[in-house]
Amino acid sequence: MIGSFDKLRDIREALREGRLTCEAIVTHYLERINARPELNAFVEVYREDALERARQVDDRLRSGTAGRLAGLVIGIKDVISHKGYGLQAGSKILTGYRSPYHATVVERILEEDAIIIGRQNCDEFAMGSSNENSYFGPVANAAAPDRVPGGSSGGSAVAVQAGFCHASLGSDTGGSVRQPASFCGVVGLKPTYGRVSRWGLIAYASSFDCIGPITRSVEDAALLLEIIAGQDDADSTVSSQPVPSYASSLAWSGKARIAYLRESIESDAVQPEVREQTRALLRKLGELGHTVEPVEFTSTRHLLPTYYILTTAEASSNLSRFDGVRYGYRAAAAADLEDMYKRSRSEGFGREVKRRILLGTFVLSASYYDAYYTKAQRVRRLILEETRRVLDQYDFIVSPVAPTTAFKKGEKVQDPLQMYLADIFTVQANVTGLPALSVPNGADDQGLPIGFQLMAAAFDEARLLSFGNYISEVTKEM
Ligand code: GLN
Repeated sequence: MIGSFDKLRDIREALREGRLTCEAIVTHYLERINARPELNAFVEVYREDALERARQVDDRLRSGTAGRLAGLVIGIKDVISHKGYGLQAGSKILTGYRSPYHATVVERILEEDAIIIGRQNCDEFAMGSSNENSYFGPVANAAAPDRVPGGSSGGSAVAVQAGFCHASLGSDTGGSVRQPASFCGVVGLKPTYGRVSRWGLIAYASSFDCIGPITRSVEDAALLLEIIAGQDDADSTVSSQPVPSYASSLAWSGKARIAYLRESIESDAVQPEVREQTRALLRKLGELGHTVEPVEFTSTRHLLPTYYILTTAEASSNLSRFDGVRYGYRAAAAADLEDMYKRSRSEGFGREVKRRILLGTFVLSASYYDAYYTKAQRVRRLILEETRRVLDQYDFIVSPVAPTTAFKKGEKVQDPLQMYLADIFTVQANVTGLPALSVPNGADDQGLPIGFQLMAAAFDEARLLSFGNYISEVTKEM
């Protein structure tokens, strides 16, 4: 019964009417997690703590003092600090590390009485598109366990897909919330850069990283955003713009102007069923009276190179703090300090993370800095300007979330370029800092979910979410 609730609102109603208790909800999820360990969605499940907290929230519900997230059981990606609990970013190098403080987002959801059920598996340091780069092993897609869940927030998406919790918090640097949401048939939101505090998020590429919700409904994504967004003294990149009540203003009225990426529904590189489903939805939106027109970006082919130059540069700097001294893992046999650093990092980091540290160090090195890093910064600016020009004329830029549905495990691990192409449609929102939403849009011939992405102007989440909510209604009727 609990699995049939797509919205927290419905759970709240059942709680109010006494048909459910938080304790029963947590028990239900724990049983489901226990039943499918092979999906490997969680790195750690807080069984006793979650039950204990559920009983406290039940008390608060009874006394009428419960917060807005009472009844919400949520999982958090293993890159978000939760005081007193282990935190490893899916890496060996953080073995034994415990968060000394709460991430701002954790503090805010706890204040509203959310129940955190555990931390979720992800690609090491959020680097990956298939969740095959985790020290804790790969995560399997619940729709087809020989397939990947997408990445890097793969565990977070599968946990919602498989009904292990009601929602998750992931992080999105190049698509890591939206692409796994798409592969798993759930909703994923990447807010505007600076809408949500990064305090307590393990940094991958600080000028790209965003925390975002993964949910079963757009309404719950809106509610979570409303709670986690907004000014934070601990993160100076967070905007002081007021946070609207997104969840209560979801009704969409009027006609939208929609620009779709022409290539995304014409290119042979995109899976035929993905093209077809996207086309069908666009046709439907046209029939409903919205303006639907193609756009082409001259900068599309520069997106991935720009993304990979800048994110690896930032990662090489961010990950220098993991040196065997301050956090987690330290190599046992070392001759001297230098040797200890080298061994700890060589043994502690996985292949993909090392590849990115090497790439980042290269693009930042004295002789190549201008040719790569400075140039990529300029191209980033041009991409932003071109994207803004389109958003001056249209409300949304849309495309499939990814060029394919969930691919087979092992299929792309030997070919990083193929793997990086999985993010071709998602990275634009991160390069430009704009908000983007992934909503389910049917399935391919094998029943694997397809996702539809909408991107909007900076801090336009209210309209992004209300139109996304409208699209969810439209796709249900198709
Ligand atoms: N797959 C992309 C990468 O590996 C995006 C990851 C992310 O958004 N964290 O960089």
